[in-house]
Parts: sequence; structure tokens; C-alpha cells
Amino acid sequence: MSGTVTPSFSLSATGRTAGYLKVGDSTNSSGWATFHLPIINLNSGSAPKVLVIGGNHGDEYEGQFAAADLAAKLDLAKLRGQIIVIPCLSLPASYASTRLWPTGENFNRLFPGDENGSIAQKLAHYLATELIPYCDAVVDLHSGGRGHYFFPSGTASVPTTGDGAASLLDNVTAWQTEYAIIFPSQPRTNVTALLPGFAAAAGKSIFTAELGGAAVATARSVGIAKRGLAGVLSRIGVTSSGEDKPELRTKKFVDMRAPEAYHNAPEAGLYENLKPAGSAVRAGELIGRIHFTDSPNRPAVDIQANCAGVIGVIRGYPRVKVGDCIAVIGPVRETID
Ligand SMILES: [Zn+2]
Repeated sequence: MSGTVTPSFSLSATGRTAGYLKVGDSTNSSGWATFHLPIINLNSGSAPKVLVIGGNHGDEYEGQFAAADLAAKLDLAKLRGQIIVIPCLSLPASYASTRLWPTGENFNRLFPGDENGSIAQKLAHYLATELIPYCDAVVDLHSGGRGHYFFPSGTASVPTTGDGAASLLDNVTAWQTEYAIIFPSQPRTNVTALLPGFAAAAGKSIFTAELGGAAVATARSVGIAKRGLAGVLSRIGVTSSGEDKPELRTKKFVDMRAPEAYHNAPEAGLYENLKPAGSAVRAGELIGRIHFTDSPNRPAVDIQANCAGVIGVIRGYPRVKVGDCIAVIGPVRETID
């Protein structure tokens, strides 16, 4: 239970209800302020119950469009359960066009939250103690933000062993994207501090995706996001599209679990992508170049692929410092083990 976040309507209300999560706040302009986060409840009065989140990171727009579109346009006659939509979870970050909140907080590292903490921490605590326990499945929509562009893909961070691996791999194919990307767990990070990691540990069915990025939401990437979200909801069984359980198209996994998949800038400069995302490359093949536009005689540095595979991630805005990620390449596999 949260004593600092309350919805402006009952989640058990049926039909379509739109309102806010109201969060206790105290600002320079108002000592007794309330932070308002838009939330839409689409409820036929039955299970399954699904939480759909866009904008976990503020500068990842495809999911915000797809979630907002779902909340505005879903035909309630096709609803077979309950869908709770938060179109933009990190609203202050989206206003600032940044990945993180203006406070510097990364919403996707805040779980289980703190009901007496910052606005973001209060919201994370509310999700952790009320919304996520209430739902059967959680859909968390991401993209590369300003810093990266992902080949639009369903994603999963898959353990090599354990009961959860098979269902995560099954879920990731529901996005119906050309490839699904498989990540390792982030080193030196508690996986349950992430929203999907927390929800998975709570026994919920998890659906995540990286749907484009580089701060440009195109008609193509947003279209993939909308179609993927519709496929996921149909797979969960919370909507009936007239073509229940769509035929899977995702049959190929880009395996990004190896350390050599990650390419980091060896020099500070201006990074030029020489290959589009989705390109197949050989080990040693030229993929990019770092330019030194502040040095008139210094030649550019070539960047070669560490390994063979498909380029799943390219650089967004070009300015990089030493250690920034500039590309991720993984081999394509038919199965993951
Ligand atoms: Zn993200």
C-alpha cells in the first residue's frame, strides 16, 4: 500500500476511465502541490489484467506513442480483461527530452521505490506495491533514446538457466519483429531494481521491446511499436483482434550476451555510423569512424566489428567520450540456450 500515491478513480471501474495518479508534492510554487501523472483504465471486468507502460525513459518516444494510441483508440468490444495504460511514466523526463528525470533519477533503477522519497521513488513504490501486484502481465516499451538507435525488436534479458528463460523467449516473439534481441543482465546491477526485473521476480509475465530511438520516432518505428503492442496484447489474451494469437514472425534472435558484442569509443570525438542498424557484418569489418573536428590535421580513427553478426544498436547523436557505447553486434541464432 502507498500512502503517498492514489489514483483519481477506482481501478475496478469498468469501461474506459481516464484520470491521474496523484502524488504528494511540495514545490517552490506550492507547498501543498500534487503531481499528476496521466493513467487510463480499460476494463471489461475480467482477467487477465495487464499494465502497459510507455516512457519509462523520457526520451524514448515510440512506446509513448503506441501506449497513448492504445489508450485513445482501443475498441472496448474487443477487450477481454483489463488494460491499465500509463502513456508516459517518466513525464518530467519526457518534458526535458532526456532519458533520466530532471533529478538525475533513472526510473528503471528505482525499484522497489520509497513511498516517502522523491516523486519518482513514490511512483516506483506505488507500482511495486499496488499496480504490479494487481496485474498478471507487464508490458514495458523502450527504445534507444537520444544516445542509441535499436533495430526495432522485442527484447529479453534471459538467464541461461531457470524456469523463466523459456517463457521470456516465448513472450519476446509476440512483438512480431524481424529479430528479437537477447541481452545479458547488466553487470554490477541488481536486476530487481529494474521495473521488468522487479515484475518478473513478482511472478508476472513480462514483455519488453526496444523499438527505435535516436530521438526520432518515425512512421516506420512507431508503426512497428503499435503493431507489436497489439500482437502482445492479443497473445496475452486481453484483446480479441479477430485473429487471436497471431502467427509468430520472430524466429531469429540476435544474441548480445557476449562481452565482445559491446563496442565502446576508444577516443572522444564525433562518431560516424558507417553501417545502418540491421546490417550483417564480418569480424574486423569497418563499422564506424571517430572524427576529431577540433583538430585540423588529425586523421579519423576507424572502428571495426569485434565479432561477426548483425548490428542491433548504432549510435544516436554522434558526440562521444571515451567508453561511450557506439555499437552492439551479436550473432544471429535460431534458438537460445
Ligand atoms: Zn529505456
